[in-house]
Amino acid sequence: MEKREHKIFNHQMECMSRDERLQLQSERLVKTVRHEYDNVPMYRARMDEKGVRPEDIRSIEDLKYLPFMEKTDLRDQWPFGLLAVPKREIVRVHGSSGTTGHPIISGYTKNDLEVWSEMMARTLTAAGCGPDDIVHVSYGFGLFTGGFGAYQGADKIGAMVIPMSSGNTQRQIMMMKELGSTILCCTPSYATYLGETIREMGLDPNRDLKLKAGCFGAEPWTEEMRYHIEELLGIDACDIYGLTEICGPGVSFACLEKDGMHINEDHVIAEIINPATGEQLPYGQSGELVFTTITKEGTPMIRYRTHDICSLNPTPCACGRTTVRMTRITGRTDDMLIIRGVNVFPSQIESVLVNVDGVAPHYMLIVDRVNSSDTMEVQVEMTEEMFSDTVSHIEQVRRTITERIKSVVGISTNVKLVAPKSIPRSEGKAKRVIDNRKL
Ligand code: AMP
Ligand code: ZN
Repeated sequence: MEKREHKIFNHQMECMSRDERLQLQSERLVKTVRHEYDNVPMYRARMDEKGVRPEDIRSIEDLKYLPFMEKTDLRDQWPFGLLAVPKREIVRVHGSSGTTGHPIISGYTKNDLEVWSEMMARTLTAAGCGPDDIVHVSYGFGLFTGGFGAYQGADKIGAMVIPMSSGNTQRQIMMMKELGSTILCCTPSYATYLGETIREMGLDPNRDLKLKAGCFGAEPWTEEMRYHIEELLGIDACDIYGLTEICGPGVSFACLEKDGMHINEDHVIAEIINPATGEQLPYGQSGELVFTTITKEGTPMIRYRTHDICSLNPTPCACGRTTVRMTRITGRTDDMLIIRGVNVFPSQIESVLVNVDGVAPHYMLIVDRVNSSDTMEVQVEMTEEMFSDTVSHIEQVRRTITERIKSVVGISTNVKLVAPKSIPRSEGKAKRVIDNRKL
């Protein structure tokens, strides 16, 4: 492959010396901690409990003394308890599915949207996007951050945006072809599906389409899947990472070297911790990724535990950026699954099952990928009594479970009622999930 030119959106911020950046991060951290302590009662109480005062935090070195934040904090403080500014300064909310049926949300001020757009502009630029490009956004537009994030970044660059949102694959491909989309933004599984459908329609991406690169993220994927997508669509596939709690996509992004994701360190501080002890781990060691936002006004996050597992690499990249790179996400420290972009915890399914008469709390979730789309089968044991009931009653219970799961978790599943004692028992920790997704 020919050597590519590396485009950089904000040379000053992305390529400054490590010392200069540490200084900037320290200054911003001190301000953030003060802002959070003064305005968010929950975090103030947590700092007080730990005996940490805002004035104890003088540089990035002191980060380790601060208490952590968790997804449960967002849920417990629903909907606006974590706001650090008056509600009238919030101009947007975004959210993602949480553990209790209602989503977790994050509030953005005007400036927060500006910062997020900048982060996404850097992300798209790193994949080769410039003002002449046509950015095809197949991430969903809505509470989910994917669609708006990609749109805002492309808009900041001055590129043309096609805000397709998700679904209607044939139409997506028609638009892509007729309008000449050059950059594709969607999940890696949808990119695969698009690629396969394009070929089924008798089109050759290299001949009939103008796509040159894609920014793919929002769910875990592998290097093998990246090669597969690059081959299928004839493009550069770049990994992009983010989470609603921090801002959405663009927290970090791969450049065309495709060797880890550059973290937007002038806006967030990344740490890797030992998930069991909370201790900071050195560069290169794998552990739980923790983020602190240092420019966010609406809902700042201090030492937010992502539960995503990766490691950090501080060596300068051939692209010229000096920011620390995170490796691909290799797993989670909790049991959260991402099914068609929705965060699903097995405990949510369990909470539905324990409230249904006639089934035992023995279940197994079988996750797979069919035609590049995630599927989930919920196998649940019937009680002996139920097992000998009429077929129509069993079907009725099955339907009830399906509907309740849909309303709690937000996704359609295939529920299967199985014979009593047919799900294997385990002597230790119960195995509730079989994830057959490959690539
Ligand atoms: P959400 O807030 O719903 O967008 O989900 C955020 C979560 O999606 C993260 O904590 C990760 O677990 C996952 N995620 C996002 N981007 C990636 C990526 N590029 N690779 C692996 N997992 C990702
Ligand atoms: Zn790079």
